[in-house]
Amino acid sequence: ALRQDAAQQAVIALDLGANDLMSGTFDAEELKLRIDALAMRKRRSDQLRNSVRDRLRQAMQDPLTGLYNRRYAFTHLARISEHSRNSGNSFAVMMLDIDRFKQVNDTWGHQIGDQVLCAVAKRLQENMRDVDLVARIGGEEFLVAMPDTDIEQARRAAERLRSLVEEVPVLAGPDVPPIHVTLSIGVSMGGQCEGENTQPEGLLKQADMALYASKNQGRNTVSFNLSAA
Ligand code: GH3
Ligand code: MG
Ligand code: MG
Repeated sequence: ALRQDAAQQAVIALDLGANDLMSGTFDAEELKLRIDALAMRKRRSDQLRNSVRDRLRQAMQDPLTGLYNRRYAFTHLARISEHSRNSGNSFAVMMLDIDRFKQVNDTWGHQIGDQVLCAVAKRLQENMRDVDLVARIGGEEFLVAMPDTDIEQARRAAERLRSLVEEVPVLAGPDVPPIHVTLSIGVSMGGQCEGENTQPEGLLKQADMALYASKNQGRNTVSFNLSAA
């Protein structure tokens, strides 16, 4: 009867996810070997899981700022555009570029420059909705895409980002004074009329032209480009 109990318990234990079972009498040496083998197996599967996760993250994430990277941004923008075709709602595409960033590097060094990039990235991320895409697509260039957004909401969001960077200087380290930076922003709108103007490539180009206009107007400015792509 005792043996049968043990066998039943073994079935239950395995069912609950046990990897190994000991029954009857056993010695300490054998137990140790078995535990070591299990620990090794667990370590290997943890390592495998971590390396898959790391590689997924590396494929999507900019290592410096933790924002989405360029590749992810363009794929995601295609999804936002697709969503717009289905929903009939418009969406906004913004290109943001830090003004005179070369001067920051020249004055304070590249490392401090990196800190400024991270601080700006954090502000952008923290001030957008979870559904908005915030990505770093170049050295000091960012992309923000806002699904289900009309032109007035886009204007307010862009203006908010512009002023929140302008208004609070960046604390980039204990050895440097607060650093004042500004953003130039170019915005284009997708899917404003049915079936029209949702192609990511065209919208990126339009936003880029608007960004160029903001630079020409003296920087620290938001411009829209609403011409047909
Ligand atoms: P503008 O207002 O016209 O945008 O001027 P700018 O100086 O920001 O533009 P420019 O394109 O002349 O220079 C961009 C600078 O950004 C040059 C480059 O050294 C710096 N940069 C690009 N990537 C990084 C980075 O990852 N870290 C740091 N620290 N600097 C970077
Ligand atoms: Mg710049
Ligand atoms: Mg640039």
